[in-house]
Amino acid sequence: MIAQPTPHDPPPGDHRPASPAWLCATCGAEWPCAPRRDLLIAEYGPDRSGLSVYLGACLAAASEDLPDVPGTALRDRFVGWLPRGRRAH
Ligand SMILES: [Zn+2]
Repeated sequence: MIAQPTPHDPPPGDHRPASPAWLCATCGAEWPCAPRRDLLIAEYGPDRSGLSVYLGACLAAASEDLPDVPGTALRDRFVGWLPRGRRAH
């Protein structure tokens, strides 16, 4: 058996968030930037709930770091871009 590295820990410079401003450390856009969103989708694949949990934790941390940004704006920015799940409803 060959152990596969987990894709959940990308190398430095790979569009990580830079606290406390929550701007991308690679391209300087508001995090999650467009390249990072694509990376997250690729990393988590069909595991939308895992991705939601991860982004929710980022959102919670960002709302503490960015008290002047309205919560609705942060929520749109961190989780509003997520594709809708394939729920039957
Ligand atoms: Zn970026």
